[in-house]
Amino acid sequence: MSTCENTSDPETPPASATAAGVPAGSAGTGQCIYLAVALDVPLPGLFDYVHDVPVVPGTRVLVSFGPRRMIGMVWAQREAPAIEAGRVKAIEAVLDDLPPMPADWMRMADFAAGYYHRPLGEVLLPVLPASLRKPSAYLGPRAAGGPVRRADRRPGRARAWGGESPAAAGTDTVAPIPPVLNAEQSAAWQDLRGMMSAQPGPGLALLHGVTGSGKTELYLRLAAEALAQGRQVLLLVPEINLTPQLEHIVRGRLGNVAVMHSKLSEGERLRAWLRAARGEAEILLGTRLALFVPLPRLGLIVVDEEHDTSYKQQEGLRYSARDLAVWRGHDLGVPVVLGSATPSLETWRRARRGDYRYVSLSRRALAQPLPEVRLVDTRRAQLEQGFTPQLLTSLEARLGQGEQSLVFINRRGYAPVLRCASCGWVSQCARCTAYTVLHRHAGGRRHTLQCHHCGDCTAPPRACPDCGDQDIQPMGRGTQRIEEFLGERFPGARILRIDADATRRKGSAEALFSKVHAGEADILVGTQMVSKGHDYARLGLVGVLNADAMLFAQDFRAPERLFAQLMQVAGRAGRRAGGAEVLIQTDYPEQAVYQALRTHDYARFAEAALAEREELGLPPFSHQALLTAQARHLRDALDFLGEARAVAQAMPEGAGARIYDAVPLRVVRVANIERAQLLVEADGRGALHRLLRPWLVEVHDLAQGRSVRWGIEIDPLEI
Ligand code: ADP
Ligand code: ZN
Ligand code: ZN
Repeated sequence: MSTCENTSDPETPPASATAAGVPAGSAGTGQCIYLAVALDVPLPGLFDYVHDVPVVPGTRVLVSFGPRRMIGMVWAQREAPAIEAGRVKAIEAVLDDLPPMPADWMRMADFAAGYYHRPLGEVLLPVLPASLRKPSAYLGPRAAGGPVRRADRRPGRARAWGGESPAAAGTDTVAPIPPVLNAEQSAAWQDLRGMMSAQPGPGLALLHGVTGSGKTELYLRLAAEALAQGRQVLLLVPEINLTPQLEHIVRGRLGNVAVMHSKLSEGERLRAWLRAARGEAEILLGTRLALFVPLPRLGLIVVDEEHDTSYKQQEGLRYSARDLAVWRGHDLGVPVVLGSATPSLETWRRARRGDYRYVSLSRRALAQPLPEVRLVDTRRAQLEQGFTPQLLTSLEARLGQGEQSLVFINRRGYAPVLRCASCGWVSQCARCTAYTVLHRHAGGRRHTLQCHHCGDCTAPPRACPDCGDQDIQPMGRGTQRIEEFLGERFPGARILRIDADATRRKGSAEALFSKVHAGEADILVGTQMVSKGHDYARLGLVGVLNADAMLFAQDFRAPERLFAQLMQVAGRAGRRAGGAEVLIQTDYPEQAVYQALRTHDYARFAEAALAEREELGLPPFSHQALLTAQARHLRDALDFLGEARAVAQAMPEGAGARIYDAVPLRVVRVANIERAQLLVEADGRGALHRLLRPWLVEVHDLAQGRSVRWGIEIDPLEI
């Protein structure tokens, strides 16, 4: 049998003896082993390759695919190839710088691929650090063993994933003495600890604790318990680069931590990944991407702020790290703790039904009262740059008392739009159906118009492009304009703006927050970035501007998100001293969301919202998937979705689902691409997926030969 020889690439194998690979054919057994390999290409299915010795599933391999070389992952061995044996290419090199990915990791990837209806290759490979999936790292003369060996500089590491705990790791610093738990925390601790050792097996808990109730302290104790048993801990947080405080505390208390988030350099990410995957790091603290790190001795998963939408990846594999964390814990029989002051309604409902253990902390840890929330009616107020007299008076009073205040507005830039006073022209992006936002630069002397959708940046016109009038004015306010106004209104005050623009450079967020914590700022002006997880010591007042904008957003989850966001931002106030207040300016003080906020009553809000969702058959009482299409012309996207809809309706599986009309997205055009979507909904998860599986095969065929790109999102957060 000569198939293997016939098909091996006659060119020099790129991976020589110096590369981290075993060159194809080196064993010379003459066998033909057919392998199903996952590749990160937008095609369904696995790809056949042949090798002359068996390769364990989970092993990375270098292969040629069309004109390219790629790194793929062996998924399975096959009896026979799906295509003609003579056309099957040989594997170019088996990369042995890492052991095969562990079986539980492969199971999770398999589940994710199935649940999110994506090809395996789009799951298995993109979740790895880039250097482990870039063929260039294994090619050419610089390939001195590949990135893993370069990161290691220690021989003999590739043989196995670490299964044993490192001896006396992380004991180089003296751990701070943990605080004595208060009564409520103690009860919660007993409950959660009981769950960790419960029979028949660990389960899931919702730790529902008001802001500042000391949830972190409980995570730390649970983690310490897992470490004492020689296990690893996965601690997921929504955004870590903004919360160096937590990293500092975790390091101080628990020692051996690997940190992972998107702002790391490639090398940093690889090293953190390797330390965690080999069991050298006992704690992995990270954002959603940390979920896909193999952890050989995983013993506890904590998802902090489980309601946070940043757990959902918004491109490629649109997974929910929270949901997959729950799956992973269940699969491994490892306890999972979901923590939040404002749980997602999905999680709340499960806890209420008894699927999750419900553990609550209703008071702040330091016995400080929650801040008083006041609704300031803007309908009858004389506004000065968007501020009511009440809010200005309160700011003045806090300044007088030497306390910090926070002005919260979820809109960055100087003004959301530029407008001509005489003809009504407004600044719009040429490539998107969106207004352009006025931004100030360099001490206010230079302005640009920026599109927040495509990133396009232009100089503002001097006169109206339509009528030539020179009276064009910024309309509305963003953080920069608020900062400017407050500077004029309170000349002695130190004002600090914290938003995506002010924190773009690496390290700038840390620098700004350390100023805040050192008391070098009197008034903070910030977007939602300031609200997440920060423990402010001196914050006495929070003023909320423009909350109503979110109240009437199209999305059915808008009130839930608004409630969570305002609870979070309110929760920053008065964490060390009493007498704190939150002023929410609104035209609609009677709205249920605001009334529930006034009384800090999450349960009341959640129950009302759930009742409404149940009546309307919305999640969590139904399950949804969103088919999206993108094309040059909206018509093509809509036509494609319309046909896809007809296909679904004609399928027997379609009977169990509601298939809505295809509609354009709210922002139809972004960077000259027009977008539309089609919502599919079913009462049961099973019914939804029973339709999706065969239907998406048809959708794939339907897209052939058209200039339409499509995608599927399961459990979409925004519709
Ligand atoms: P949460 O995560 O619930 O918002 P934190 O864990 O940040 O709350 O706790 C708020 C503050 O209370 C922190 O400064 C924390 O150190 C402190 N704290 C928590 N538990 C205790 C305790 N038992 N005794 C004293 N301080 C505590
Ligand atoms: Zn004009
Ligand atoms: Zn644009």
